[in-house]
Amino acid sequence: MSEVRVRFAPSPTGSPHIGNMRNAVFDWLFARHSGGRFILRIEDTDRTRLVPGAVEEIMRDLRWLRLEWDEGPEVGGLCGPYFQSERVELYQSYARQLAEEGKAYYCYCSPERLAEMRKEQEARRESIGYDRRCRDLTPDEAERLKGESETGVVRFRMPLSGTTTFKDVVRGEISFDNALQDDFVILKSDGFPTYHFASVVDDHDMLISHVIRSEEWVSSTPKHIRLYEALGWEPPLFVHPPLIVGPDRTKLSKRHGAVAFSSYIEEGYLPETILNFLALLGWSAGEDRDLYSIDELIEKFTLEGIIDHPAVFDTAKLQWMNGQYIRACDPDRLVELTLPYLQRAGLMAESPSPDELRYAREVIRLMQERMAVLSDAPKLCDFFFVDQPEYDPKATDKWLSKPQAADLLNKVADSFESAPEWNIESIENAVRAAGAELGLEGGQVIHPVRVGVTGRTVGPGLFETIEVQGRERSVARLRTAARIAAREAAG
Ligand code: GLU
Repeated sequence: MSEVRVRFAPSPTGSPHIGNMRNAVFDWLFARHSGGRFILRIEDTDRTRLVPGAVEEIMRDLRWLRLEWDEGPEVGGLCGPYFQSERVELYQSYARQLAEEGKAYYCYCSPERLAEMRKEQEARRESIGYDRRCRDLTPDEAERLKGESETGVVRFRMPLSGTTTFKDVVRGEISFDNALQDDFVILKSDGFPTYHFASVVDDHDMLISHVIRSEEWVSSTPKHIRLYEALGWEPPLFVHPPLIVGPDRTKLSKRHGAVAFSSYIEEGYLPETILNFLALLGWSAGEDRDLYSIDELIEKFTLEGIIDHPAVFDTAKLQWMNGQYIRACDPDRLVELTLPYLQRAGLMAESPSPDELRYAREVIRLMQERMAVLSDAPKLCDFFFVDQPEYDPKATDKWLSKPQAADLLNKVADSFESAPEWNIESIENAVRAAGAELGLEGGQVIHPVRVGVTGRTVGPGLFETIEVQGRERSVARLRTAARIAAREAAG
């Protein structure tokens, strides 16, 4: 088999979404699995839909996911340029060639005429398509219309009968009735090519072996097959992975929550989670298993594993998976990843002192078992970073209104002050001893103390929490809570 060369060919018309990035993951895994090359090509020929900053965002998202491209913008390569807008002359020369060979033709119909035609087709409930007025003009007619027209496009001369068939790697053989195909535009009046034409020219010119792209392009493939034939080129293999759908089985959209890829970065999913998760959206190694390292994915990824039915986007599974990767994360890296969330929430200074950093590190390590996404961190651990936690009224009602609560909290504070050492064991001993003096044990001790030092009823292990908070902070909180408890008991 000749070298595997695959391309990810986004249009910079907005933010990449989950579906685009899933395709990029498939491209990249297939290239790495086969020792081939992964090419990034920017399809920016629809000048009216360009969004400033979109190219940068695409590249940033790919790099965040660690999908380094072997050829493309900023990297270069032998088949460049990799922006279609810089390749316009190439498309124009092939369009001219096809027109000269009678395989394409100039069309001078005005936008007004085409709109009128469309309206009439709609009224007659006919299928919408170009009525081919300019397909078979005599040279004289062509000359006259050209003179009258302000615009002109080049259209492809589709066969009027027969079928066009191709073999999709995922779906097998698919046939299309030529009579239902349009004489589609290949070169627009602004001189830029359409997607269909540019992508065929480039996939050929860039020696692409496999075109991996969304299912929505299946119906365009007969156009592409005919273009390859007209240009005398061997088509690449076509691979259309399945659509990604929401739990209600409709195409994934904003209704299902976030679809912009960047929102998953912002929420605090790890790149290894997203890579693993996207790889499984429409592909399977045929095992009953969900967690794969990058190396395992590369080793196992084959096109045969691509599934031909819709892939359901399961947010609960994504969160579970992220929790797994957070637990497995190197603690120093986790700290680095989580700090910005604490800073944005105003819990940490922009440039923290070494002491503040040390403290944050210990807090984040405590949270490692509890976070599903990094953006959980502020609400899980805000009480560590404030002078006094906010006391949840439900928690104080339940645990600080008991007659002995104030006594207990003061006693625990006393034993903390006099504890010879500050470690989990000495903290636990101090808490239990204070409880025992009042004849309390188990939950009667643990819950009020937890509420006293954190303001809430749930959190990481109590003694670890107290150890990390430190002696001074814990004592101060217990004294405040004891005052609240005394008030509750009196009121
Ligand atoms: N520019 C097209 C898109 O963003 C690429 C389709 C293809 O891969 O051929 O959907």
